[in-house]
Amino acid sequence: MTHIAVLGSTNMDLVAYVAKAPQRGETVTGREFRTIPGGKGANQAVAAAHAGSDVSMIGAVGADAFGSQLRTTLEHSGVDTDHLRTTEGPSGTAHIVVDDEGGNAIVVVPGANATVDHLAPGDEVLIAGADALLLQLEIPLAAVLAGAEAARRHSVRTILTPSPVQSLPPELLASIDLLVPNEHEAAALTGVTDPREAATALLDQVPEVVVTLGAAGSLYAARGAEPLTVPAPRVTAVDSTGAGDTFVGTLAVALAEGRPMRAALAWASTAASLSVQRVGASSSMPYRSEIDAQAA
Ligand code: ATP
Repeated sequence: MTHIAVLGSTNMDLVAYVAKAPQRGETVTGREFRTIPGGKGANQAVAAAHAGSDVSMIGAVGADAFGSQLRTTLEHSGVDTDHLRTTEGPSGTAHIVVDDEGGNAIVVVPGANATVDHLAPGDEVLIAGADALLLQLEIPLAAVLAGAEAARRHSVRTILTPSPVQSLPPELLASIDLLVPNEHEAAALTGVTDPREAATALLDQVPEVVVTLGAAGSLYAARGAEPLTVPAPRVTAVDSTGAGDTFVGTLAVALAEGRPMRAALAWASTAASLSVQRVGASSSMPYRSEIDAQAA
């Protein structure tokens, strides 16, 4: 059995669906409200667990009802939450207004995620025993850096999703094995819009890059090798929320199992293409048997 550690965020998404979003000072009546467990860290943890790995989540939830719900959601997906701390104060929340044209406005309040600015006792031992550490940027950079450096000390593969995109310190990139931006993040990090050129530019800082290209699939680049494009299965997408996290969580499991990169990317693409055909983020992430059935 493989073991994936995830150091990152947990959020409760509070989503109001309205015909038209309110202007400043205006009150409108919404049509529907949903609470959806999320956070890029938690989503990647669920994706990896569904794909068949042991998974441990390092992070924090608040001492509120959302915190218990977020923890329970992870546990129901088989994610170990022993290193998910409960801190005083609120859990991370994302306040989302979705209008009838599919546009949205989002306020993210980090809450407990902001307290994850260091590794706690025991976190490094957990990371040392994992096959890979998954990182994103929804917790303070100090913890992302500490996690990446801990992984490096123990020769554990590090996979970073640079989202929300921001400039990345060289000392962090020096401890990253595989960077997985989407095409917008790749462009923002390099100033280059062509994904293939952006991926090549990123190889100055990290040894391997996968740029996800939405329905067009993904592009892999490594130092000293020709870039590789892996198409995504053609499907009818109904909700792409969490596609990127499904892709990364599943890719990590495939690589931890020792699959070659091309096969690992194809398997992750199959998983992500299944997730976009269903509504929701973590609730839409496919199980291993579904991915294998589709890939066969
Ligand atoms: P999100 O923010 O919606 O979670 P993202 O912007 O991080 O996604 P994308 O590049 O949009 O990431 O998608 C990740 C992967 O999901 C793609 O590489 C692809 O394999 C798969 N995917 C996304 N959209 C589609 C689609 N419409 N059809 C098939 N596969 C898709």
